[in-house]
Amino acid sequence: MATPIAVAGAGIAGLCTALLLARQGYDVELIDRDTPAPDDLAEIQEWSRPGTPQAQHPHVYLGLFRKLLRENLPDVHGDLLANGIEELPFNGGLPEAEQDLVMMAARRTTLEWALHRALRKEHQVRYRPGVTIRDVEVADGRVRGLRTSEGVEEYSLVIDATGARSKLAAHFRRIEAEAECGKVYNTRFYRLREGVVQPPLRHGSVTVVDGLGYGAALFCHDLGIFSIDIGRLPEDETLKGLRDPDAFERVVALLEPFRPWVGPEHCTPISEVVPMAGLRNVLYTLSDDAPAGYFPVGDTVCVTDPTFGRGMALGLAQAVQLVHTLTEATGDRASLNLHTTAAAVDLCRPWYDDVVVQDRARTSLWRAAVAGERWQDLLPGMPPNPFLMIDAEALDPELGLIGRRYVSMLSGTLDDEDVHRRIAALPASPAADQAAAHAPTYPDVVAALRS
Ligand SMILES: Cc1cc2nc3c(=O)[nH]c(=O)nc-3n(C[C@H](O)[C@H](O)[C@H](O)COP(=O)(O)OP(=O)(O)OC[C@H]3O[C@@H](n4cnc5c(N)ncnc54)[C@H](O)[C@@H]3O)c2cc1C
Repeated sequence: MATPIAVAGAGIAGLCTALLLARQGYDVELIDRDTPAPDDLAEIQEWSRPGTPQAQHPHVYLGLFRKLLRENLPDVHGDLLANGIEELPFNGGLPEAEQDLVMMAARRTTLEWALHRALRKEHQVRYRPGVTIRDVEVADGRVRGLRTSEGVEEYSLVIDATGARSKLAAHFRRIEAEAECGKVYNTRFYRLREGVVQPPLRHGSVTVVDGLGYGAALFCHDLGIFSIDIGRLPEDETLKGLRDPDAFERVVALLEPFRPWVGPEHCTPISEVVPMAGLRNVLYTLSDDAPAGYFPVGDTVCVTDPTFGRGMALGLAQAVQLVHTLTEATGDRASLNLHTTAAAVDLCRPWYDDVVVQDRARTSLWRAAVAGERWQDLLPGMPPNPFLMIDAEALDPELGLIGRRYVSMLSGTLDDEDVHRRIAALPASPAADQAAAHAPTYPDVVAALRS
């Protein structure tokens, strides 16, 4: 009897891969070191996920992710909606614009909860929580199994979905490209008070305040829960003070678009302020001596700055592609890993390259603003800012739509001639007004933090 396929890691990519494989008739063992998701969605906020520290930060569900979910796992999408997850239009009030310009509003753990519910119905999946994988067992250039906290177990195909910090991948992958994100996140979660009607949002499930020297966003999730994230430069010792909840709240109070949500009359904080530092954009590929049978997927292949919310869509897209290739193949599937990893890298590379260009631009503008230098001199040659394009849509609706499609991952780069021409043709160019009109200045933020 053939050994089951081991899926290492039950995060977004691992859960999706395990489900898709089971539905193609494969026997799967899904192994994760964390505890299982609770049965009741009402208990999900207390679910401890040390294996995914990013679960303590907001996740936005972009149009592409929702489209891939509806196409490939429609029951999971349906279950989320049946459990009260909202879909918020991001089409600028033009319903005919594009049916995929929609965002889902949920916590990251809520999606994992729905994926676990679907998995429980798949008898071909054996889910093994609380098991730590220590290494991949290799002999004669082929995967032979996994060494876990429970012993050595035999597998000939291992799908590594253990994420950005994968220890398993250390011997088998090399860095293809790498760049700093240039941002440290500070996040706090809140619950709307009973009877408070959910206030409107500017950008689908999110309201972005695109400052200079800092940036903030409010994310609407499920069951009345929302979160606020404030980003700063890694070297900015002053804004490090955002970790203090009182200082964080003083800065939040300064952000006018967040006011209908915040303050004791509207909400209660349900978390501390949680920082996340050390973020890098990284694209990996397999090293030449990687064993046959070892298949990386998700963040194990590509990590992009969370500012753009692309990780889950890239993870699901990779899972779909990988399972399709394994299913279509005849013969020795283990030796397909070089091919499937190269295909995953090709899929991710344009998104990776684009994020790096955007990160470089934002980081240099922020550094100039924090140093009190003329950031305006840096604008020529910078990529367009999609949120400023959306702000300008009253003047050029097509420009706004291009921005919305780009943010949703329904189209790629913005750095094209038509976009530059349209921006240049605007009566008051948003490029010249890069510090979005409604964002407080960096000195205002510092003053609020210290007051
Ligand atoms: C701050 C932040 C915010 C983000 N916001 C967004 C967003 O808004 N939208 C978006 O699309 N993406 C976002 N992302 C990216 C997104 O979280 C990732 O792209 C996504 O989680 C990748 O899924 P994955 O399955 O590859 O890895 P993960 O989700 O990280 O899952 C890895 C799994 O492997 C398990 N594991 C690890 N090592 C072992 C081991 N040795 N043994 C057993 N189990 C192990 C872990 O417990 C975990 O369950 C964000 C990321 C960060 C850091």
